[in-house]
Amino acid sequence: MTAHEPRPAADALLDLAAALDAADPLGAHLDAFVDAPGVHAYLDGNSLGRPLRVVPERLASFAREDWGTRLIRSWDEQWMALPMELGDRIGAIALGAAPGQTVVADSTSVLIYKLLRAAIPRDPARTEIVMERGNFPTDRFLVEGVAAETGTTIRWIDPDPVHGVQVADVVAVLSERTAVVSLSHVDYRSGALADMRAITAAVHDAGALMMWDLCHSAGVVPMQLDEWGVDLAVGCTYKYLNGGPGSPAFAYLRRSLQGVLRQPIQGWWSAADIFAMGPEYVPASDIRQLLSGTPPVTSMLAMQGMLDLIEQATIAAVREKSQALTDLAIRAYDEVLVPLGVRLLSPRDAAARGGHVTIGHPDFRAVTQRLWADGIIPDFRFPDGIRLGLSPLSTSYSETVRGVLAVRDALQQHG
Ligand SMILES: *Cc1c(COP(=O)(O)O)cnc(C)c1O
Repeated sequence: MTAHEPRPAADALLDLAAALDAADPLGAHLDAFVDAPGVHAYLDGNSLGRPLRVVPERLASFAREDWGTRLIRSWDEQWMALPMELGDRIGAIALGAAPGQTVVADSTSVLIYKLLRAAIPRDPARTEIVMERGNFPTDRFLVEGVAAETGTTIRWIDPDPVHGVQVADVVAVLSERTAVVSLSHVDYRSGALADMRAITAAVHDAGALMMWDLCHSAGVVPMQLDEWGVDLAVGCTYKYLNGGPGSPAFAYLRRSLQGVLRQPIQGWWSAADIFAMGPEYVPASDIRQLLSGTPPVTSMLAMQGMLDLIEQATIAAVREKSQALTDLAIRAYDEVLVPLGVRLLSPRDAAARGGHVTIGHPDFRAVTQRLWADGIIPDFRFPDGIRLGLSPLSTSYSETVRGVLAVRDALQQHG
């Protein structure tokens, strides 16, 4: 190549990424995560966040001391309060929720059931649940089950698959029959970010309750549940909150609805007095009413380090880097993947998306297998999408570009 020829796009992108990494105010946090030898780009932080380096010692000292030495005394000393304490921390750091409205418990699926079921029988004239047809399967399946169980009807919304649910889509199906609207804040496929504030306001105008699934936004997209009047919400802790595989979920129930709504799995942990061991069930009137049985304490350890880290970095700074990472991924896509016929399945406007970018090509199933074997780890979503999940505290700009270039290389080798 002569000096007059433009530099290959790949080199320019890698240089740009290196410059962004050098200037990254959150860059120092990349070292807080466990090394993964042989992994050149981890682009699945939106499905399973990486463990922090503090996790192995935290688990070991828990087994040695809290459990091993304090034994059952630890329930009184710390574990009884843990679901509420962790909930309050998630609320403060990531959700814009004042204390006493968030608990950590169960799985997202179980909490969706409990909250939906709590929201339904409020008013017999309100017989419809609004749900989006492209929502995550568990959310749709649970709504189907709750509708069958309660004799309610599902009003499906069919939004644009790239841009996700808009306020007008919701307004079009609202009526005096709407009991509850249940939507995802960030679409698990496209990454489209719903306008939580405006949609919640529209749902309230119709006299219905609003429930948000925050699985793909908690820990990466800031929100103001209290200020925006959200009624109910659930979310995962193993995605952007790095709680580890199967770590319990969280649920938010607005204070004014506590003691008013009743959830269906009324185990002893949700009773007004846990140790009364009384003849009949009297529900707690505070947020503990959402618990059911003994909480999975061991599975609540790993997320604590990530909460510390997000608190230190601030969710606003995390969001800023998230938008810069997804912008860079789309720029790299434009330069090296558009020529290969790859489609962009996420919104181009950073303000309209969450933390991941999805691209599509008919060969992506085979391409993903090749990438995983080479230590480049995005995830594949049926039918032909690759999601690039960029978790701002653990993902570098260089890693992001390496990932997109690897997709290009694998696609060229495949074709
Ligand atoms: C990840 C995810 C879930 C997962 O639910 P589990 O009960 O943890 O398996 C549910 N809903 C959405 C929108 C998700 O992204």
